[in-house]
Amino acid sequence: MKLDPQVRIQNRTIIIGAGMAGLAAAISLASSGENALLIERQPYPGGKMRELPSALGGIDSGPTVFTMKYVFDELFRKTGKSFEQCLDLKKAKTLARHAWDDSGSFDLHASKAETVDEIGTFFGRECAEGFQTFCRDSENIFNSLKDTFIGASRPSPLQLGSRVGLLNVRKLWQLQPFTSLMGKLHAYFPDPRLRQLFGRYATYVGSSPYKAPATLMLIAHVEQEGVWFINGGMHKLAQAMEMLAEEQGAEIRQGETVARLLMDRHKVCGVVTDKGEMLTAKRVLYCGDISALSEEFVGTSNGTPKPVAPAERSLSAITWSMEAKAEGFPLHQHNVFFSQDYREEFDSIFERGYAPTQPTVYMCAQDRGDDGTLSDPTERLMCLINSPANGDVNRLNERELEQCQRNMTRSLSNCGLNITPHQSAITQPSDFENLFPGSGGALYGRASHGWMASFKREGAKTKIPGLYLAGGSVHPGAGVPMATLSGMIAAEQIMKDHALT
Ligand SMILES: Cc1cc2nc3c(=O)[nH]c(=O)nc-3n(C[C@H](O)[C@H](O)[C@H](O)COP(=O)(O)OP(=O)(O)OC[C@H]3O[C@@H](n4cnc5c(N)ncnc54)[C@H](O)[C@@H]3O)c2cc1C
Repeated sequence: MKLDPQVRIQNRTIIIGAGMAGLAAAISLASSGENALLIERQPYPGGKMRELPSALGGIDSGPTVFTMKYVFDELFRKTGKSFEQCLDLKKAKTLARHAWDDSGSFDLHASKAETVDEIGTFFGRECAEGFQTFCRDSENIFNSLKDTFIGASRPSPLQLGSRVGLLNVRKLWQLQPFTSLMGKLHAYFPDPRLRQLFGRYATYVGSSPYKAPATLMLIAHVEQEGVWFINGGMHKLAQAMEMLAEEQGAEIRQGETVARLLMDRHKVCGVVTDKGEMLTAKRVLYCGDISALSEEFVGTSNGTPKPVAPAERSLSAITWSMEAKAEGFPLHQHNVFFSQDYREEFDSIFERGYAPTQPTVYMCAQDRGDDGTLSDPTERLMCLINSPANGDVNRLNERELEQCQRNMTRSLSNCGLNITPHQSAITQPSDFENLFPGSGGALYGRASHGWMASFKREGAKTKIPGLYLAGGSVHPGAGVPMATLSGMIAAEQIMKDHALT
């Protein structure tokens, strides 16, 4: 849609989407004195960080594992407030509980020494020693990439080389970052269960451990650095960020959808809402899924970022948010019930396009903390299995969903856990596609398959003047802290360009 030449373009940034990236950008821009208007189609902030209602209170039905707190410390500091001032946080002593069968469970602890001891007892001395080397290598990868890649504008492979420096490139190279994560894990862990446990980190960015690069070991380090519980649930974080953005002077409109961008010749100069309202702006920051940026939405075929091809999409999921009674297994807040054949699980999803028949199940028991105690026998649970991102072409019918639920509960009962749901809401890939259009239900943008995948993500600045990008489907990638970083990086880029003009 073209702009009437008589209309004055407002000197502000319109941000599309109040997920983590959009909220972080609104806080960053507004706290620097920039005029920011945030438009969100849902009546609530947070995007994927959503909660579903239940008689016991909201059930966290999106992200549940909160890491990289330093990102939020930095974001909140911009406003003169500390993160702790705005949210009630507690550092977890136990990172997650894992089970493969009904013979007991294995915990990863925040204390490395405790984890070494537990690995020694559960898997033997060789694995305990392997874990120590694994921790050292993961830390090295994280430290090499933290400021050069993760927290910086998107580099090309060559630029990354020069940012990392010759010495660190050599160190990174010795760690064989181009082999697959699962392949690399053989070097540390003779026991296949530990390879499965640490290989699962690839799913944090929606990828298969058999195809993702070994650099993703850095996620293990990120978790080792700390997992925090947010009192009241993850959605409290989105609410706190929304409040902070408004306090800093950002305007937020909810329940309105941006239907398309407004163009002035080849430059973006605002947006048009689904109600036909025209809102001008010198800059527009798009924080939805990159695959929804069609030529029709952008208004030009020149330089419109390419959607992620269906074959390159990351994982979707099927989730069950429920009030239930859980018996037979000592639940922690974060629990993983592994399948017997991990390779088959990813082959089913990525090669054949079906949800696995023997799925690994992640269960968040948000009413339990570190000690696992419960005041009420009925609790809020969210169970998640990985699934293919084909929600744009396939909707599972009731019979198929029942089968998925049977498969999921069988994986739990194999580990001794029986659940009796009193109320349950299912979200399947086509629901995620409806919530996040263009994605096919992919929850993490492009899959990180192969070492080049991270470089294929779009950066904050597009080829179209005035149009910027942020969110989990662009650099530096998916996950709550990464999407937040992308919003902060985009805000920095906007302010830099604005200062130049
Ligand atoms: C089930 C699940 C579990 C997860 N688990 C974890 C976890 O444990 N830890 C972790 O770190 N990460 C996890 N993630 C990933 C994490 O939630 C996401 O990577 C992150 O929240 C994405 O943030 P985002 O900024 O990309 O925005 P999104 O959350 O994708 O939000 C984008 C927003 O833009 C809005 N929007 C889009 N288009 C328009 C438009 N045209 N007009 C107006 N508004 C628009 C949408 O409504 C949405 O609110 C999980 C995700 C899911 C779904």
